[in-house]
Amino acid sequence: MMEETRTGPARLPSVDAVLRGAGAVAVARFGRVPATEAIRAAIAALRPAVLAGAAAPNADAVAARAIAALEAAETPSLRPVLNLTGVVLHTNLGRALLAEEAVAAATAAMRSPAALEFDLGTGGRGERDDHIAGLLRELTGAEAAIAVNNNAAAVTLVLAALAAGRETVLSRGELIEIGGAFRMPAIMASAGTTLREVGTTNRTHARDYREAIGPQTAALMKVHTSNYVIQGFTAEVAPRDLAAIAREAGLPLIDDLGSGTLVDLARWGLKRERTVQDALADGADIVTFSGDKLLGGPQAGFILGRKDLVARCAKHPLKRAMRLDKIRLAALEATLRLYRDPDRLADRLPTLRQLTRPRAAIRAMAETLVAPLAAFSGGTVTVEDCESQIGSGALPMETLPSAALVVRGVPPEALAARLRALRLPVIGRIRDDALRLDLRCLEAPGTLLDALA
Ligand SMILES: *Cc1c(COP(=O)(O)O)cnc(C)c1O
Repeated sequence: MMEETRTGPARLPSVDAVLRGAGAVAVARFGRVPATEAIRAAIAALRPAVLAGAAAPNADAVAARAIAALEAAETPSLRPVLNLTGVVLHTNLGRALLAEEAVAAATAAMRSPAALEFDLGTGGRGERDDHIAGLLRELTGAEAAIAVNNNAAAVTLVLAALAAGRETVLSRGELIEIGGAFRMPAIMASAGTTLREVGTTNRTHARDYREAIGPQTAALMKVHTSNYVIQGFTAEVAPRDLAAIAREAGLPLIDDLGSGTLVDLARWGLKRERTVQDALADGADIVTFSGDKLLGGPQAGFILGRKDLVARCAKHPLKRAMRLDKIRLAALEATLRLYRDPDRLADRLPTLRQLTRPRAAIRAMAETLVAPLAAFSGGTVTVEDCESQIGSGALPMETLPSAALVVRGVPPEALAARLRALRLPVIGRIRDDALRLDLRCLEAPGTLLDALA
C-alpha cells in the first residue's frame, strides 16, 4: 500500500478513473462487479512493468485489457467444435447430433412446464417413462420399456434389480471394457451380483452355460463385444440357443446390445447390425442399449423387454437416481417418433445422414476447400481417400469410404493446435506426419470456411 502511494498509482490510472472513462463500456456489457474486478486485475498485472520503468498505459488501454479478459472469461468451457476426426459417433466430442425435431422438442420442454408425471386424461399422477414406452413398444414389439441416464446405468440397474445377491453368468469372451470405468466385472460388482465367468476367451459352448447354472444363478447375460472382435478358432452360443438355455432353467436372459439400432442398416448400404427387434425375437427377456450411439438421440439408456422384469427395474431405488429429466425425455420422444417413417430417417437423423454420405460427395466438397486450407495452413493440401469409423463401439471393424483434406509441409502438431484455437475449434487427426481432416461430418463447406476466416 505504501509503495503504491509512492510510485504505482501516480502513474497508472486508478480503478475509478478507468470506470469513469472507457471502463463504462465494460460496466454496461458485463456488469459493475465483474468490470471493476477486471479493471483492478488489469492494473495489478500492469504494475510490475510500470514500477520497473515502462511507460504507464492510459485509462483506455487499461479498459481494453480488462474487456479482453472479460470476453475471454465469457467463452463457454463446453464449446461447439467441428468434428473432422473421421469418427462419426465420437464419445469425447459428444456422440450423436440431435435431429431438428428433437432440438425443437427439447427447447420447448426447457421453456415451459410439461406434463412429465401428470396424466392429462385423468388429472392424476402419470409416469415419466410413459412418454417413450408406447413408441418403444410399437417400434420393437417389446412388452415394456423404461429409460435411464445412459446404457451403463441401464445395465447397472438391470443387474441390481434382477441379480443382486446372486450370480450372473457371462462368457469370458464378452467381459468387455468400454473405455474408462465401464468394465463388466466392475459393473457387476457395483450392482451387487457375482460374476460367474464361463467358457474361454475364444470359445464358449452351450454346456459351459448349462454347467454353471445352479441355485445361486439369477440370470444369464450376453454382452455385445462393441470395440473388438474375436477371430480364428472361436465359438459362441447363438442368442436363440442361449435364450433356450435360460428358458429351460427358468432364468432371464439379459442382452446388452451396446449401441443398439432399431433399423436394418443394410438398407443404407451399411453392414447389418443385430437390431433391438432381433434380440427380442431371439428370446432375450431384457435388452439394454444407448440413446446417443446409432439411435441418434440424446444420451440415455433403454431397458426393454418382459413386463414383470422391467417393472422390477422401474421400482428399484436406483431408478430414481438414474432417471431422465423432461428435456431429454422430450428429445428422446421426438427422436423415436422419426423411426415411424424409415424412408426419411437418413435425411432427418444427422447421425444416419453422416454415416450414409457417399465418398464421391465428400470428395467433391473437399476439392472446394483445398485452396482456403492451403492459405490458412501455409502447407501443401491434397484430397485423399480415407476410411471413417462409426465410433462408440458400433460395428467396430466396419469402416466407411470417405475423403480427407491432408496437409503436409507444416508441423502437424502446431497446425492442429492452431485449428483447435479457432473460435469454432476444428478437430482433425495426425497420421504419418500429416494433419488430416476427414470431411464426412462436414455437411456444409461454409462451416469450415467461416471457421478458417
Ligand atoms: C457403449 C456401451 C455401453 C455403455 O453405454 P453408455 O450409453 O455409454 O453408458 C455398455 N455396453 C456396451 C456393450 C456398449 O457398447
